[in-house]
Amino acid sequence: MKLSRRGLLKITGFSIVAVAALPRVAFAARNSLRGLRTGVQPGNKTRLVIETANRPSYSLSYPTNQLVVTLSNTSANNNISAKLASDALVNSITQTQNGDKLQIVANLKKPISEIEKSSILLLEPNGDNDYRLVLDFKAGTPNATYTTSTVAPTTAITASRKYIIVVDAGHGGKDPGCIGKGGTREKDIVLSVAKKLKNKLDSAGFKTYLTRSDDTYLKLAERASIAEKRKADLFISLHANANPSRKMKGFSIYTLSEKASDEEARKLAEAENAADKIGVEGFTQFEENIRMALSSLQQHAVAEMSEEYANGCAKSFKRASIEQQPGPDVRHAPFAVLRSTIPGALLELGHLSNQSEEKLLRTDKHQNKLVDAIVKSVKNYNFEV
Ligand SMILES: [Zn+2]
Repeated sequence: MKLSRRGLLKITGFSIVAVAALPRVAFAARNSLRGLRTGVQPGNKTRLVIETANRPSYSLSYPTNQLVVTLSNTSANNNISAKLASDALVNSITQTQNGDKLQIVANLKKPISEIEKSSILLLEPNGDNDYRLVLDFKAGTPNATYTTSTVAPTTAITASRKYIIVVDAGHGGKDPGCIGKGGTREKDIVLSVAKKLKNKLDSAGFKTYLTRSDDTYLKLAERASIAEKRKADLFISLHANANPSRKMKGFSIYTLSEKASDEEARKLAEAENAADKIGVEGFTQFEENIRMALSSLQQHAVAEMSEEYANGCAKSFKRASIEQQPGPDVRHAPFAVLRSTIPGALLELGHLSNQSEEKLLRTDKHQNKLVDAIVKSVKNYNFEV
């Protein structure tokens, strides 16, 4: 560990026995607070994220209607104002410096019970983020009026699980999707891209599942329920487009909403949903189950996460200089395949109705370009908050 090594250097003059006997924290560089935020997670959970410059050493306590996180050897940072989600359980957060300890006091709308170990994550720095202590909790009966559990930095849980991505190649089997003038079928293009994407995501450290890995027909509800069963963190449905105007080109990205953002998006959702008219049974029931499983609050959280992913994905495509269909970065429509508890987006990779784009979509080179942009968008997506 960096901190203890730094400590050792400082005290080279002393005996090693003395080093071992002294508490590790005594040598640690002073930690500083970098960020405070809350969010709402599926399952009606509130998520509190405390970002610090160094690995935090912390303890938790539960005074009435409060959650107090005490960080050892940490300075308050008054430049930081907590970003609070209005739907979360936290009303306000204050910082109190108590000697070398910093107390983060979250004032709660409702009491909570002691947070289980499995709901505490300590995340390593990545990208724009520093160390993050992530606490998930929901309203519940307090176990005691004042409970304390101390967690030393060495026993903190580090997120080591792989994020699960479900990649859905649209259409398949008896449903070819749209067909280009040159005879290119949407179902073949998206399957080829999906397989390449799985390989690259897996080698980038994700656990990727395909809804189909061959030319088989799957109902839209089955695709969504594969994502549910795999407990996916992200769902990506791949498609290619057709437009009455053969001049129309470029990619477009969609998330789920009951109301379409524009007429074109509405028509597109209708066309994509039509795949299920061949065998619609099962979908109505599935949809009902999903609705029951999700409170409006959770639907809101899933929608927000989907929106965040979709926006990042559009950015990633543009950065890769992939031609974009004129219009907003992200559009919305009632796509049946996106109706689940898993955040996700539907990507229309390009237009098979456009002659030059049809040719382009057939090439490995362009498919790899698309895949690389999607991999980047997944890597940049903030799975935790
Ligand atoms: Zn399609």
